[in-house]
Amino acid sequence: MLIIMNANATDNQIQNVVNFIKSKNFDAHISKGEIQTVIGAVGGKIIDPRDIELLDGVKEVIRISSGYKLASRQFKQEDTIVEVNGVKFGGDNTGLIAGPCTIESYEQMDETAKKLSDMGIKILRGGAFKPRTSPYAFQGLGEEGLKIIKKVADKYGMAVTSEIMEISQIPVCLKYVDILQVGARNMQNFNLLRELGHINKPVIIKRGLANTIEELLMAAEYVMSGGNRNVILCERGIRTFERITRNTLDLSAIPVVKKLSHLPIIIDPSHGTGLRDKVAPMSRAAVAAGCDGLIVEVHNEPESALCDGAQSLYPEQFKALKSDLEKIAPIVGKKIL
Ligand code: PEP
Ligand code: MN
Repeated sequence: MLIIMNANATDNQIQNVVNFIKSKNFDAHISKGEIQTVIGAVGGKIIDPRDIELLDGVKEVIRISSGYKLASRQFKQEDTIVEVNGVKFGGDNTGLIAGPCTIESYEQMDETAKKLSDMGIKILRGGAFKPRTSPYAFQGLGEEGLKIIKKVADKYGMAVTSEIMEISQIPVCLKYVDILQVGARNMQNFNLLRELGHINKPVIIKRGLANTIEELLMAAEYVMSGGNRNVILCERGIRTFERITRNTLDLSAIPVVKKLSHLPIIIDPSHGTGLRDKVAPMSRAAVAAGCDGLIVEVHNEPESALCDGAQSLYPEQFKALKSDLEKIAPIVGKKIL
């Protein structure tokens, strides 16, 4: 933290600030300029910068150390690679996850998974606990749904990813799910994140609709600080003033995260655009930008989907997309898995 004092700050005020930060276990490094004094606070625990801003003579406090450490590139130089069912996310790998928005029936999952598995997809998605904006919308099949997706995934040798909404669902998710997904609306459900720090399965954390990349990294830090280092970050679009697309897919999150963190970052072009015809172009762009994976909604019959049909690809469309991605990935030194 850098503390910039007012031009006319007195020696007493400066000393008072120094005493305060020392009382919080920081070392104080004072730099007295011609006009202003700047105090560098190093070490110590995270404190609220406003507590310092309120002290007499302080002009401004600039935070330079972030609220995340374990997730940071400074802490770990090499890329973290998360591996599930032979699919790797991170490093030179771009892993694919596909499946419907939500689990509707055994037949729907079976038909979709069969087609995906024929294409070589090894991780199946499908929500059983759905965070719907309206309480009247289909809320998901719950444990029944998880039983269906697990049965189908086992049949085709696939792994399962599915969303968890609250702490009480951890035991049931651990029973059927290989990668637990924290949805955008729960990105700052800190109690849930903390608990997921104690499980031994990977966690996907989706960026909140109105959250910064730093906040996403701090969400990952919650999980990691509990001991679970298998975290995958997911950019799924943020809310902006644009209304044509459902969300605005922030692909700059890819290079930004890669610089700040060693964690893999995957892209969800389905929720990121909300429109089927925008999914392939944005997936190609994401791979070209070096993403570590994609999670794509694919449905055997999108027109009759109970949820997010308009943004779900037909299996044949996903097949064509996958073949495009296999051509693009090597250009950026990656391989599609
Ligand atoms: C989902 O992936 O099914 C989902 C609900 O996504 P998000 O949390 O990004 O809205
Ligand atoms: Mn969806």
